[in-house]
Amino acid sequence: IIRLEGVNKFYGQFQVLTGIDLSVRAGERIVVCGPSGSGKSTLIRCINRLEVVQQGKIVVDGIDLTAGGKNVDAVRAEVGMVFQQFNLFPHLTILQNCTLAPMRSRGMSKEQAEDIAMKYLKRVRIPEQANKFPSQLSGGQQQRVAIARALCMSPKIMLFDEPTSALDPEMVKEVLDTMISLAEDGMTMLCVTHEMGFARSVADRVIFMADGRIVEQGPPQEFFGAPKHEKLRQFLGQIL
Ligand code: ATP
Ligand code: MG
Repeated sequence: IIRLEGVNKFYGQFQVLTGIDLSVRAGERIVVCGPSGSGKSTLIRCINRLEVVQQGKIVVDGIDLTAGGKNVDAVRAEVGMVFQQFNLFPHLTILQNCTLAPMRSRGMSKEQAEDIAMKYLKRVRIPEQANKFPSQLSGGQQQRVAIARALCMSPKIMLFDEPTSALDPEMVKEVLDTMISLAEDGMTMLCVTHEMGFARSVADRVIFMADGRIVEQGPPQEFFGAPKHEKLRQFLGQIL
């Protein structure tokens, strides 16, 4: 459902991604980890075209993002994204945050969008917060709203960029539990996270990036049990 071939990306002279080849099957759960600055965020931002690449090919659910043309809206409608800093609209209520995109870009009526929003707010277990504003919620609650908001667009793929790293420790679990339940439902997920417990129990494949390259990847058991690359061993030594 996602295919990257020979992707190179530069910021000016600086090469941030080098020779990225990556295929993700529908329903696959992938965790991406690696040192700060290794290009993890850039990689997943390329998949919903928040970033453009200079060389290589990116195809998402049959949409070629590198072919030129107006594929941005089409791909954004299929790819949900959750960021480290929630990125909720502060001046809108939780319910309005969730209904905005479905009404604007899916042409839903307010009633229909609200029905769907309430379904997903129940799913992330905060329907009672619907009429509050983001600043009135805890970090963990805000992040669950961000997940519900993304789900309201019925995405085929969910991208997560360190969704728990801005949270206080006691709120990490509630967000991870939400992500685990999505995974159990068969969602295709690409998660940048350093939550290695999540990686071990949920990921089909763990990818390690360093210096803009995919250095090593494999099923969690191999990845953690028998890391081959010296940089990965060092990295795991630091975080585990
Ligand atoms: P972290 O773990 O700190 O989030 P990351 O692996 O997500 O790191 P990226 O954010 O993808 O790393 O950044 C990769 C490299 O690209 C870094 O060296 C960063 O400084 C650089 N970079 C990122 N965004 C830009 C930009 N808009 N302009 C120039 N350089 C950038
Ligand atoms: Mg990042």
